[in-house]
Amino acid sequence: MIVDVHCHLYFPQFDEDREEAIKRAEANGLVAIVNAGTDHESNVKVLELSEKYKIVRATLGLYPTTALKLSEEELDKEIEFIKSNKDKVVGIGEIGLDFKLTTEPKQQQRQIEVFKKIITSLKDLNKTFVIHSRKAEKECVEILEELEVKKVNFHCFSGSFKLAKRIEANNWTMSIPANIDKSQHFQGIVEQTSINNILTETDAPFLSPAGETRCEPSFIKQTLNKIAEIKQMDVKEVTNNIYLNYQKLFS
Ligand SMILES: [Zn+2]
Repeated sequence: MIVDVHCHLYFPQFDEDREEAIKRAEANGLVAIVNAGTDHESNVKVLELSEKYKIVRATLGLYPTTALKLSEEELDKEIEFIKSNKDKVVGIGEIGLDFKLTTEPKQQQRQIEVFKKIITSLKDLNKTFVIHSRKAEKECVEILEELEVKKVNFHCFSGSFKLAKRIEANNWTMSIPANIDKSQHFQGIVEQTSINNILTETDAPFLSPAGETRCEPSFIKQTLNKIAEIKQMDVKEVTNNIYLNYQKLFS
């Protein structure tokens, strides 16, 4: 009952072996792979892949820097598109803020505006929001608190441990990527966070573990071993616990 709650299977890195990668994931015990859209084109592909493969689920979103390129009208159109597909998705994302790629204050302000608009427009769907928060973790937490969002997963959360505690206190979750084997940060997050607030992701094809150039969903098996080691828990128990967390948020 292994889950990958965040990846991008539609990327060209999977063009040669997409189906094999999905089969490898199944062979390694995965029961759900959540594929996240970042713009209109990928949102369409995400929906197609979820129709084609039972194990692949969809979240539709707008990457913060992609959203910046859209006019208000185009933004509204994409929000409507997401709304109209609400029965086909298990969550909304990825959405959020990226102040690493956008350093100009006016543009950052626009990102915040867009982020708030997406949340307020789609909050009533009662789906989990999958959050990208690079170099804007505090801003993301504050906005989600302000808008009283209940179902939230921070994907690849790279903020402070203090903020991670706040995420936990809000009863939100953080999904831990497969590069935890070489990341002190994620090892620390796992150590200090309750297993009830942890999920597993790959962000594939990115964030690969040591020795790999491309990440893929089947690698989650190693992530679970690492989490079990850190938490001094049985790997089966960790897997079941994370599956329950997944069910609460994504089904
Ligand atoms: Zn991603």
